[in-house]
Amino acid sequence: MQKTILLPQELPAWADPSAATWISSPVCGGRRTVPPAIYYRRDFRIDGAVPGRVVLHITALGLFECEINGKRVGDDVFAPGWTDYSRRVHYRSYDVTDLLRRGENVIGVILGDGWYSGHIAVMNRQFYGEHPAFLASLEECSTPASTVLVASDTAWTYSRGPILENDLLMGESYDARLELGAWSLPGYDARSWQPAAPIAAPAIAVERSPGPPVRRQESLPGRLQPNNPALVARYDFGQNFTGRVRIRVRGPRGLHLRMRYAEILKPDGALYTDNLRTARATDHYTLRGGDAEVYEPRFTFHGFRYLEIDWSGKPTDLLIEAVDGIVLHSDMARTGSFECSHPLLNQLAKNILWGQKSNFLEVPTDCPQRDERLGWTGDAQVFVRTAAFFMNVHPFFQKWMKDMRDAQDKNGAIPPIVPYPPVWSLPIDGGPAWADAVFICPWTIYLCYGDTTILRDHYDCMKGYLDYLAAHKVKGFIRVHPEVDAWGGFGDWLALDGSGKLDGATPKDLIGTAYYAHAAEIMSKTAELLGKTDDVRRYRALREEIVRAFNHRFVTGEGLLTGGTQTAYVLALHFGMLPEKLRPAAANELVRLIRKNNNHIGTGFVGTPYILPVLEAHGHLAVAYELLEQETFPSWLFPVKNGATTIWERWDGWTPDKGFGDVSMNSYNHYAYGAVGEWMVTTVAGLELDPAEPGYKHIRFKPRPGGKITHARAELTTACGRVAIDWKLENGQLHLNLEVPPGTRATLDLPAVCGLAPAAIGPGRHERSVPFSSESSC
Ligand code: BGC
Repeated sequence: MQKTILLPQELPAWADPSAATWISSPVCGGRRTVPPAIYYRRDFRIDGAVPGRVVLHITALGLFECEINGKRVGDDVFAPGWTDYSRRVHYRSYDVTDLLRRGENVIGVILGDGWYSGHIAVMNRQFYGEHPAFLASLEECSTPASTVLVASDTAWTYSRGPILENDLLMGESYDARLELGAWSLPGYDARSWQPAAPIAAPAIAVERSPGPPVRRQESLPGRLQPNNPALVARYDFGQNFTGRVRIRVRGPRGLHLRMRYAEILKPDGALYTDNLRTARATDHYTLRGGDAEVYEPRFTFHGFRYLEIDWSGKPTDLLIEAVDGIVLHSDMARTGSFECSHPLLNQLAKNILWGQKSNFLEVPTDCPQRDERLGWTGDAQVFVRTAAFFMNVHPFFQKWMKDMRDAQDKNGAIPPIVPYPPVWSLPIDGGPAWADAVFICPWTIYLCYGDTTILRDHYDCMKGYLDYLAAHKVKGFIRVHPEVDAWGGFGDWLALDGSGKLDGATPKDLIGTAYYAHAAEIMSKTAELLGKTDDVRRYRALREEIVRAFNHRFVTGEGLLTGGTQTAYVLALHFGMLPEKLRPAAANELVRLIRKNNNHIGTGFVGTPYILPVLEAHGHLAVAYELLEQETFPSWLFPVKNGATTIWERWDGWTPDKGFGDVSMNSYNHYAYGAVGEWMVTTVAGLELDPAEPGYKHIRFKPRPGGKITHARAELTTACGRVAIDWKLENGQLHLNLEVPPGTRATLDLPAVCGLAPAAIGPGRHERSVPFSSESSC
């Protein structure tokens, strides 16, 4: 698969976007009707030799793909990406010198609706604007002062073409009989094309994108399933993923194909699409006839594992020669891998990675298949640490943090989704654990990559949110106190804790106050790093007050907590809310609740990421392994046992008794519960960072073998090089192979049962074998 041009940060910036004219066409859809994509072109001459370096700067309100002299410019998809278009749009820059020639040249742009005017989530279309438009400038940059060769202006013309409908959620309709031929080559007869319409320049920032573009990442061959009915061909890609398909077909001119997508099949083998809600997720293709034709939609994507093609005409009319799934996501280098002796856990690790691939597309989304695909802040904050292991998400989060600053309300509130499209009936404050992404995401990126820039850039935003809380959501240091906040947030979302409620049984003020203390802690540490001494004092003191209020309101003298849920104990212990003397009792109570639940997890989005670390940190490693290795519902391995290739949104997305879960909200590709990946890496394999020397400058190897696992390994490519740990239990010995990159140091911290104090190790490869007895390790 083509993967060439990298982020063009080294190209000169666009000196003056205002010198070009935003242009558009009168063609547009309605609140529900999906319009065609529009083609634009402009002839221009280069007299004399082609300059030494020519750069195209281009952006759109909508999505663009550009061609010069018949060749596609760049290889990014869905450019220029999703931002809050009422404030900011990103531009892309491409070195196009090699595409130009002396004499006649043509530049062409295909413009789609994308997030700007297409459907977003359950809402209608046109949230930011009705007409997609673009802005472009082709500049000679061989000398320090760039010269504009050609820019978007009213000399451009536009035409409809073969893309009759384009929408990210609904799909694309393409009629190959209407193809425009060599429309982006010189000499093309464009007499029927209409002049492009100038639009007033929107009062928004035009900036180079700090994030990675979306690209095609890999292709998955579609396997034709047996026993398809007449006029239907169903394919299985073997993997739930985000992207689209590329088909090669032959058939008579005018034959119409319909392509439908699903994550899962019904027991009778039919596509299960009920959970897509209003997302049509259907592409249409009409054949031009003659030779084999290849089709891949351009301005849409779907979340799916299965494709069904059906067609008009006779069964023998269509010959399908090839079907490939094209995986799309933001371009992030793969950095980490995990493997162990437990095959189901290995599949779980794969599913976690596929959850990330499927949902890191421009913004971290909740799910790719149904009419949602929103940047839910809560989901992102629980998963960011795991994500930063598997892939380099540093630029991706830098971009999203910027989106978050754009989304922050003027009173400081952070919404539950980022970007925050203008029409949406959600509250302006995302509430506990959701809006807290404002603290947790930049802090985690700092820990994983050691870069303070993201904290510096984001500090005022974090501070603004903490001030907002104090002013609007807190009473007596209790956050979302029922007297000041009747809603209180999403609670422990989707916890199966016996409450029967989506937001679970854990008291919302308990969740809120625990996160409030965590926020104050992150703020004080950030202030310390940035040398803001007054703030350090202020936030430390604030944390102490919050902890005091928490204990007063929610904790008994015996270390028991109001609400009595697993999540209540997990949060209190994880965020260090309890006095030391009460912690063992609280941890014992957590274990009792797990036992009472027949060794099953009872946490939702909020408690799940921390339950295993809390058990381990409080002397209950064996219980943590029991939960991790649990195969019956609800558990991480239950979906794996039932053929999942991604992480499900709900523990009960499908159960043997009830079958498919509640169709109103049941995704099979949500990464949130994949947050367990962090513990698998840091504790099962034992590759951990040190917050005091972030970015893996100091590596902590701290494997804690347990459960049925006899071997594990984790590897990570860091800025300094490869870090690796590989351990094996054999004949009462723990054998370790470690790798420490140059310029870093490491500490080997073995389980107490090994009877060795933590030891410093330097760069290089190391082998160790130490006695280990599993019985006493717990
Ligand atoms: C989304 C979630 C999100 C939640 C908030 C759902 O619709 O899919 O992942 O965090 O709403 O309540």
